[in-house]
Amino acid sequence: MKTIYCDANATTRLDPEVLQEMMPFLTEKYGNPSSIHALGRDAKKYLSKARRQVVALIQAESPEEIVFTSGGTESDNLAIKGTAERLKEKGGHIITSSVEHSAVLNTCRALNEKGYKVTYLKVDEFGLIDPDELREKIGEKTILVTIMTANNETGTILPVEEISSIASAQGVLFHTDAVQAAGKIPVTVKGKGVDMISLSSHKINGPKGVGALYVKEGTKISALHSGGYQESGRRAGTENLAGIVGFGKACEVALKNLDKRSLKTKKLRDMLFEGIKEHIGGAELNGHISERLPNTLNISFRGIEGESLVRAMDLEGIYAGAGSACKAGSPEASHVLEAMGLSPERVRSAVRFSVDKFNSEEDISEIIRKLPGIVSRIRDL
Ligand SMILES: *Cc1c(COP(=O)(O)O)cnc(C)c1O
Repeated sequence: MKTIYCDANATTRLDPEVLQEMMPFLTEKYGNPSSIHALGRDAKKYLSKARRQVVALIQAESPEEIVFTSGGTESDNLAIKGTAERLKEKGGHIITSSVEHSAVLNTCRALNEKGYKVTYLKVDEFGLIDPDELREKIGEKTILVTIMTANNETGTILPVEEISSIASAQGVLFHTDAVQAAGKIPVTVKGKGVDMISLSSHKINGPKGVGALYVKEGTKISALHSGGYQESGRRAGTENLAGIVGFGKACEVALKNLDKRSLKTKKLRDMLFEGIKEHIGGAELNGHISERLPNTLNISFRGIEGESLVRAMDLEGIYAGAGSACKAGSPEASHVLEAMGLSPERVRSAVRFSVDKFNSEEDISEIIRKLPGIVSRIRDL
């Protein structure tokens, strides 16, 4: 059976170009970048190259601002816990939103248990925060504002520019989880008062288990664990060089093809939405209609459990997501859709389609051909 992967927000397929770039580092180029001999120096050269590729993607000032990590989750932890630890004398108040990824939400919860105060900003029915609420809640004791650039479940794009300028006007550090936004819309640090940005390789057709945290020059954070002086003392442990080289290449490809990829996925995504609206009744879009990632389509199908639909599509070779991937297997409802104030039934009936550059029009036609039958079979049960 031909399978169609339409779950790019959970993870993406490794780009063949990226794999090719990684291969030497899994074979003959096995040096440790900290070694002073030729093999080590060579490894270090490629570590620096990857750093410059990440710098280019987000238009950072210098390679020193990039800290390689094990992925988006670690980057979020490093930004939030690293700031909390570093600035605990200044104050113990952190502001975030109620629609963040669990990597941010659970990190904030863990800090809350240690005595930090956390404010979760509300969102409206589209998943957007109210900048005025941020202005109200930000205070003397606030040490960090962390708000995602784009939501992984709905694709809603948050007004990061406005949010970061509110934080920086108050002298408060601002971090954004741009894991979903990178490679899909421009994500840059330029002139926005953005102090930290989390990125993940496997969401942009790079390998899994690698990511980065951008830390603006002059911003001091504490390291999460102790060890060697890798990543300028901010992240101890021998670098995952093959992964980092692949991530660097994935950033280069993402930057080069940003417009093309965005147009292509938007066309496919909109084609899917039109097809669904035309052939299936009771389908409602979740998230913002226009302020949304070009590849993301979150839809509630009235009268259906989203998870049942995902399982039924799976049997037909169509891979989509119910809620977020991190919740798979747990009956917990999407905290994102709940925070948007949607009815419990609409929350339960949500399915996420997320398109990647490897998808084709045939893929979408195939989904549109099969989906109405699958939906009506479930509705008839
Ligand atoms: C996937 C994702 C993460 C986690 O990244 P990993 O590299 O899988 O740890 C964090 N934030 C958002 C918004 C994500 O979509």
